[in-house]
Amino acid sequence: MNPSENTLPTISDDLLLQCMHCGMCLPTCPTYVLTKRERSSPRGRIRLIKSMAEGKLNFTHEFITEMNFCLDCRACETACPAGVHYGRIIEETRRVIAETTKISYKTRILRRLFLTGLFAKQKRLQLLARVVRFYQKTGMEWFVLKFNLTGLFSKKLKQIAPLSPKISAKFTKQLLPEFLPAHGETKYKVALLTGCVQDIAFAETNLATAEVLVRNNCDVYIPQNQACCGSVHAHTGAVELAKKNLLHNCAAFYIDTIDALIINAAGCGSFLKESGEIFSLAEDAVAIKKLASKTRDISEFLCEINFRKPEAHLDLIVTYHDACHLAHGQKIRSAPREIITSINGVILKEMRESDWCCGSAGVYNITHTETANKLLDRKIRNIQSTNAEIIISANTGCSIQLAYGIRTSGSQLKIMHPIDLLWRAYQAEERNE
Ligand code: SF4
Ligand code: SF4
Repeated sequence: MNPSENTLPTISDDLLLQCMHCGMCLPTCPTYVLTKRERSSPRGRIRLIKSMAEGKLNFTHEFITEMNFCLDCRACETACPAGVHYGRIIEETRRVIAETTKISYKTRILRRLFLTGLFAKQKRLQLLARVVRFYQKTGMEWFVLKFNLTGLFSKKLKQIAPLSPKISAKFTKQLLPEFLPAHGETKYKVALLTGCVQDIAFAETNLATAEVLVRNNCDVYIPQNQACCGSVHAHTGAVELAKKNLLHNCAAFYIDTIDALIINAAGCGSFLKESGEIFSLAEDAVAIKKLASKTRDISEFLCEINFRKPEAHLDLIVTYHDACHLAHGQKIRSAPREIITSINGVILKEMRESDWCCGSAGVYNITHTETANKLLDRKIRNIQSTNAEIIISANTGCSIQLAYGIRTSGSQLKIMHPIDLLWRAYQAEERNE
């Protein structure tokens, strides 16, 4: 079907009519602040989507470009006094675009390779990760980047090659068994989502999450047959694949028997919590709603159960980056800060614009690298002005993007998850430091 023949009839009027066009969201929107264009603001995009849905505007290439220019960071939702569910609107719009737009053969192959080839099978992702680790550890990556060899193939490859995360030496299943019993009395039974990129780039954070949980009276299940949460599929319009992963995980995590499904990557947690609403009309809505209702971010869960404060002293100055899908998506801001400041000797220095997107935004740093880099430069400047030695980030994509920003700025800053820090404090306590 030709895009110009389409409208967007399936976007709910209830979602679109909530916007009263007040403009309170504009100063918080990174794409508006960068361009000063109304059509690149939340209000402008909602107007465009509404006009499309009403058949007043053609479904054009420019329209699709504008929808893809949005970061889906949801800062506008936090600012909006009318409670507009902007994330739902943009994701619904992208779904309709994916369903109704003709895409080139090359794009279709790449999408299939990416969504069903890599992100549907963790073993394949791990195999690719091992190849990338070999490339990184043998110095080939250094050589290729130093002499700009990727630029010989394409400008895009040259832009995105340095974004690659450092691959973990061991993945989660080599670090953790499928079950870890609570230290002492069992009060909670929880399962841990190990993630897809999280598993290959931040497996140590998965280890830290499980170790912290067992020290807080939790039996922890880490099933090896778990699948990707499905967010990468849903955000790219492949909702059926996302639903398949959700249903697989309902069974893999024995969702009826656990108290909570623990997530340490904000993007996955945000999607899982909203999946009950997104798939409310699906045949299997009951199971998905149960999965959604049991999903907890690790910081949120630890604060809910009144986690044990460590006794050790760590002499550190840190700053905290609010991941969009934690602060704006899940409205979780105080729990990670509570964990950080519970550790004796740790000083939290707040940065300016801590909840301003770092440019990672799913695959945005790959698809819109120049805009993402502008946001990253702004974030790194704000981080450096705190003089902290560690940046705390609770989202996989943000941590990868921030690591890239740190490397290119020549800074010595380190990145940690709040749970890495808490685990370090527990370990120091156990060594009697
Ligand atoms: S999601 Fe982010 S980039 Fe998109 S309109 Fe809202 S504030 Fe702007
Ligand atoms: S703040 Fe909310 S109601 Fe106001 S223009 Fe933005 S989205 Fe619409």
